[in-house]
Amino acid sequence: MSDLTDLYQSVILDHNKRPRNRGKPPTANRVATGDNPTCGDHCTVYLHLGDDNRIDAIGFEGAGCAISQASTSLMTTQVKGKTPAEAEALYAAFKQIVTTGEAPDEISDLAAFAGVHAFPARIKCATLGWHAALEAVKQPPS
Ligand code: ZN
Repeated sequence: MSDLTDLYQSVILDHNKRPRNRGKPPTANRVATGDNPTCGDHCTVYLHLGDDNRIDAIGFEGAGCAISQASTSLMTTQVKGKTPAEAEALYAAFKQIVTTGEAPDEISDLAAFAGVHAFPARIKCATLGWHAALEAVKQPPS
C-alpha cells in the first residue's frame, strides 16, 4: 500500500510543480472564480463550452496551497472533452474520494487525493477548482 501512497503523492506533487492548462484559453466563453479564505486559495477557471455541449477548452489562473493548485490542474485534465453533466458526475466521484478516503476500484489520478479525507479543513482546498468549473458552465456565454 505504501507504494500506492507514494504514487498518489507524486501525482499531487507533479501537478503542483507543473500545472496543466494554466492560463486563459483564447477560445474561452465562460468564467467563474473560487475562493477559499480559510486557506488563502483562489482560482479563476476559464472554459469554452462548444455548440456540442462539450468543454473543449479549459484553463485556470490563481494561487494557493499545493492541494488546491494540484487539484485544479488535475480537474482541468479530467473535465476537458466532457459535457457539463459528465463533469458533475466526475466531481461527485471526486468529492466521495476526498470526504471518505475511498476510491473506486479502477485507479485514477483522482484517487491521489484520498488522503485529504483525514484533513477535513483541506477538503475545500481540493474542491475549489471543481466548484469554479461547475459554476463556469452555468454562466451565460461571454
Ligand atoms: Zn488550500
